[in-house]
Amino acid sequence: MQRVYLGLGSNLAEPLAQLRGALKALAALPRSQLAGTSSFYASDPLGPADQPRYVNAVAALDTALEPLQLLDALQAIELNQGRERKAERWGPRTLDLDILLFGDLILNAPRLHVPHYHMHARAFVLYPLAELAPELRLPDGRALQDLLAACPFAGLERLSDGP
Ligand code: ATP
Ligand code: MG
Ligand code: MG
Repeated sequence: MQRVYLGLGSNLAEPLAQLRGALKALAALPRSQLAGTSSFYASDPLGPADQPRYVNAVAALDTALEPLQLLDALQAIELNQGRERKAERWGPRTLDLDILLFGDLILNAPRLHVPHYHMHARAFVLYPLAELAPELRLPDGRALQDLLAACPFAGLERLSDGP
C-alpha cells in the first residue's frame, strides 16, 4: 500500500456535489481505502479569469494500484462526472482529479508526473493538504510547512460546507 494525496477541483455543475460524488467514487476504488478528506475551499481560478470560482479539497488514499492504474481510474471518474477535455488550458471543468504525491515516488512519465509539477505553489493544494498531513515532506525533502510559509492564503476561503 502506498499513501497517495489527491487534489480535487470543480467549478461547474454544482461543485460541492461534484466533490462529494468524487469522494464516493474514490472510496469505491479497488485495492484502495480512502484515508482522509480535507475541508472544502473556494479558490480563484488559474488561467482564464472569466470562469466561476473553484471548490477544492485534498484526499488521502491508501492504494495498492500502480501509479498509471490509479491515473486511469481517476480519469474514468472525471469522465463519468462529465469532464470534457477542451483545447483551452485550465478552462472550467466539472471535476479535476490530480495525483499530488504517490508515496515518496518521483516519476516523470509522459502521462504522469509526480509529485504534481505545481503543487508546491498552489494555495488550494497546500492548505487542504496541511489539514491531513501537517508534518509532510515532499520526496525531495522540502517541508510542507516551508512551502506554506511561502504561499499566501490570499484568494482562498475555507468553506463551512464540507465532505
Ligand atoms: P494542472 O496539471 O496544471 O493542474 P489540469 O489538471 O487542468 O492542469 P488536466 O487537463 O487535468 O490538467 O490533465 C492533463 C494531463 O496531465 C492528463 O491527461 C495527465 O496525463 C497529465 N498528468 C501528468 N501528471 C499528472 C498528475 N500528477 N495527476 C494527474 N494528471 C497528470
Ligand atoms: Mg489540475
Ligand atoms: Mg488534472
